[in-house]
Amino acid sequence: MILGIDLGTTNASAAVIKKGRPVFVKTGYSQNCNILPSVVGYNDKGEIVAGEEARDLCLVNPDSAIRSVKNYMGKNKDIVLRNPLTSENVSYKPYEISSKILERIKKLASEQLGERITRAVITVPAYFNDKARKDTIKAGAMAGLEVVRIINEPTAAALCYGLHNKGLENNHVMVYDLGGGTFDISVIEINDDIIEVIASDGDRSLGGDRFDYALFSSFYKKIKAGGNADIDNLVAMSILLNESEQAKIHLSSVVKKSLSIKEFGFDEVLYREDFENLIKPFIDKTVDQCRAVVEKSGIGNRNIDKILLVGGSTRIPYVRNVLESALKVPVSQEIDPDLAVVTGAAIQAAIIEGRQVDSVLVDVAPHSLSVSCVIEKNGRTVPNFCSKLIRKNTPIPCTVEETFSTLNDNQDTVRIAVYQGESDFEENNVLIKELKFSGLKGRKAGETEILVNFSYKLDGTVDITACEDGTKNKLMDSCATN
Ligand code: AMP
Repeated sequence: MILGIDLGTTNASAAVIKKGRPVFVKTGYSQNCNILPSVVGYNDKGEIVAGEEARDLCLVNPDSAIRSVKNYMGKNKDIVLRNPLTSENVSYKPYEISSKILERIKKLASEQLGERITRAVITVPAYFNDKARKDTIKAGAMAGLEVVRIINEPTAAALCYGLHNKGLENNHVMVYDLGGGTFDISVIEINDDIIEVIASDGDRSLGGDRFDYALFSSFYKKIKAGGNADIDNLVAMSILLNESEQAKIHLSSVVKKSLSIKEFGFDEVLYREDFENLIKPFIDKTVDQCRAVVEKSGIGNRNIDKILLVGGSTRIPYVRNVLESALKVPVSQEIDPDLAVVTGAAIQAAIIEGRQVDSVLVDVAPHSLSVSCVIEKNGRTVPNFCSKLIRKNTPIPCTVEETFSTLNDNQDTVRIAVYQGESDFEENNVLIKELKFSGLKGRKAGETEILVNFSYKLDGTVDITACEDGTKNKLMDSCATN
């Protein structure tokens, strides 16, 4: 079996196609984790490790580990890592570091797929030059993998969306790939099963990490202004950066997030709108680059048929909204943006094996799931409004959270009614579960916050959790969708 591998700057992943569905190699500590941090380093025993362990080491021993090695592929640069056991500095070529990530992936894939994996298709950015591509092949060989094909990441995304073999002619798609460390933009042309990148550009230093730093800096300033926390040390900074990333991720599914870091006496409510203002200059820059790349491709904006969103940072709703309104082109995001490229690599691998794969089956939520609530609209109170937590066609399994607050003073109970359907109002949707969450602290209207979490599983059931913010009061239940 040929393995499809996305050797990303921030994360790597691998997959094969079985019975028309992508099967992802589980890579992390947690059971459902399909992505492996692209970090390599020495642990305390003097062993070289790749993945989550290396990422954790990077925080405490930054000179013993390296992240984002992909940025150095094709360059004559030596990477020096300190072995903490011997205190020796050891030099590596970028492809030698990459091979450690591939070695780990190969081992996990062989264990999970029940056969020794020796061949792979690996994706690379469209801008990779010949040397960087050859280095990728070298890294594969060092890890015991014959790289049977190198494909461009935007091409893999198009394969994943099943845009090949559809009889499309002169179809143009823009692939907007915003990951952790980098931004890549490509215009591809599809003529039946030929997919060609006709223009590409990007920014090697723009991605979700910059958004984390933007939040980090605003928190840092506030903590410093408070004056009583010791924050100017590596461990404190790492904690704050990690909290910043988590807050950012939360704000993709909730409009406000309470953030409390006891160590620094930091207590803040963070609003999605403020976060959006913080990242606006970065997103505007990506839009300018989209326009420039269309110009370079010579086809004109009106001839772009759709935009595919790829990369973890495209989960930020603001990114999609800005693109839609600025470029006026339909945006597709039906496939998990972290897994679109690796799925495309797996499809290419299956095609090389002689299997015909037109498009893959991806499990999606067949209906939207909402919680009924009361909203304010144009100065009016609107009851029985269905606030959608999971939208129709969202890839599953998935987990989404949203914060609701109480309507009345001293309210100690809320009704959590879960509706299935596309309407904004209860009456047109189907009630699938009704729960009573009681024992809330009686506070002023709006002061009690309830965090509702939906976890939609592959078997169509949804685990529902409701937590009263700042207390141990919690309700857990589940329901089946129709
Ligand atoms: P990638 O390089 O494509 O794996 O993307 C990794 C980046 O996506 C990191 O900066 C993550 O913090 C970011 N990311 C992942 N999930 C989300 C989310 N739900 N909202 C915002 N950013 C996310």
